[in-house]
Order: sequence, then C-alpha cells, then structure tokens
Amino acid sequence: MPPVRETRQTKVNSGSKANQPPPKPIVIHSDVIEISDSEDDVPAASLKRKSSLVLSLERNVKKLKEENQMHKNEEKNLKAELARVKKKLEKAKHETEAIKNDKHNLAAQLVRSQSEVIHLQSQVSSNPVPSKTCLPISEIEDDVTCEICTMKMWTPYILECGHMYCQCCLQDWFSTTLAQHLAAHPNYNINQQQMQMPYGMEHYMHLFANTMPQPKYTCPSCREELRNPPIEAFNVKSIVRAVASVEGESSPRKETGSSSRRKGKAPAVREDPWSGFFRKKPKA
Ligand SMILES: [Zn+2]
Ligand SMILES: [Zn+2]
Repeated sequence: MPPVRETRQTKVNSGSKANQPPPKPIVIHSDVIEISDSEDDVPAASLKRKSSLVLSLERNVKKLKEENQMHKNEEKNLKAELARVKKKLEKAKHETEAIKNDKHNLAAQLVRSQSEVIHLQSQVSSNPVPSKTCLPISEIEDDVTCEICTMKMWTPYILECGHMYCQCCLQDWFSTTLAQHLAAHPNYNINQQQMQMPYGMEHYMHLFANTMPQPKYTCPSCREELRNPPIEAFNVKSIVRAVASVEGESSPRKETGSSSRRKGKAPAVREDPWSGFFRKKPKA
C-alpha cells in the first residue's frame, strides 16, 4: 500500500476564508490531483468573474434605479395629469349642470311663449283684423244720400241749420214755397223788386225788400226758416264721387237746358241756382 499523502481539500466557495492560505489538494488512493503551485491562479479567476458579476449587477442596479426614478417621474406626471383631468371633469360637470339649468329655463320659457301665442291666436281669431284698412262705405252711404230723393248728392248744398240735400230737391222744395207765396201775393216778383230800385239806392234795397212780404223758405227736415241761400258743400261733393267710384258708379253727365233737370242729377247750367228764390244782398 503506498502512502496516502494527506492534502487539504480545496474550498473555493468560502469568501470569508479568502485571506487564509489556499488549501492543498487532497489525493485519494492512487489518483493524484495536480494543482498548480501558484496559489493566485484559482482565486484570481474567481475574483475576475466575481468582479465582473458585481459590475454587471451594479450596472443592473443602476439601470433599475434609473428606471425606477423614471417610473417615479412618470407616475408624478401621470398624477399631475390625472389631477388636471379631474379638474376638467369637475368643470365639465358644472358646465353640464349649468346647461341643464339653462335647458330647463328655456323649456319653461318656451312653454310660456307657446301659451302666449295660443292666447294671441285666440284673440286674433275672435277679433279678425282686416288685411286692408278701408273706409266702411255702407256706414257713410247715408251721409252722402239725399233724404228727399234717396240718391247720391252729386251737387250737395248745405243749409243754415246744417242739413244737406241735393240741389234739385232743394230747388223743388223752394219752388213749392214760392208757388204758395205767389198764390198769396200775386204781385211778388223778386227780379222786379231789384229792378225797381232807383239809381244809387241799391244798397238800401234789402231794407226796402224787408218791408215787403217775402216767401219763407225753410229746411225740408227741421223747418228752420232760411235767411240765406244754401251753400254748395264741395267736400261732400268729393266724398260722393269717391264713394261712387268705389261702388263702380259714374257721375251723371251734365245736361244742357233747364228742362233736363232731374232729381239726383247735376244741373246743366253753372249759374246761381238760388237767384230765383233769394235776393242778392248788396255788397258792402
Ligand atoms: Zn235729392
Ligand atoms: Zn234743417
């Protein structure tokens, strides 16, 4: 049996014994494990690997730290962003609330307006407004009609009392009065009275005439005695023609000759229609 050389077993896994002398290789039986005489060979490689591992780990740690910091920053930014979004959301909520209120108010206002429109429509339908303001012809028809002949007063004359008739009807009315007066006073002649006044005494004519019996012309309606001849009502004359044009009625043509005088028609000759009834008053 060959002697077994006692060797110390190599321990490489203990870092705490790195300062101890490296163990001698153990040879079991006849197998001899040759280990290099250089004591630094094995630990140096290990140290190299270890240092590279440490460096790698340190790099990883540094990288992880940086990533962690980056994530923290991102988290911070996200939190800030979240706060901003929350704020916006809150604002949007308020705005939505305000819009809802507005909508509610507008709806109420719409209801009020609609009811008002309905009310106005009912008023309009109950009081229809004529599309065109027009003169109610039927209402002024009576005012332009002669009460005697019931025709339009184409030549209206107004009396002192305010009553108005067409010229022909008044002439007929005065003729009747004159005829009655002549029956009672056969010598009455209005023209002769005027002609018989001496020269230079014309302005005393009315004084003299007043002493003579005169026909008493009156209003056909109220019978008020007339001291002056009727006056032509030009404004009513225009209204009569306006009404007639609306009704499609044309003014009667002027006819010549006194024999053409008819009721409701204009006289032919443009002369003083009352010269045969009323004496002309002297000019002052
Ligand atoms: Zn008349
Ligand atoms: Zn009258």
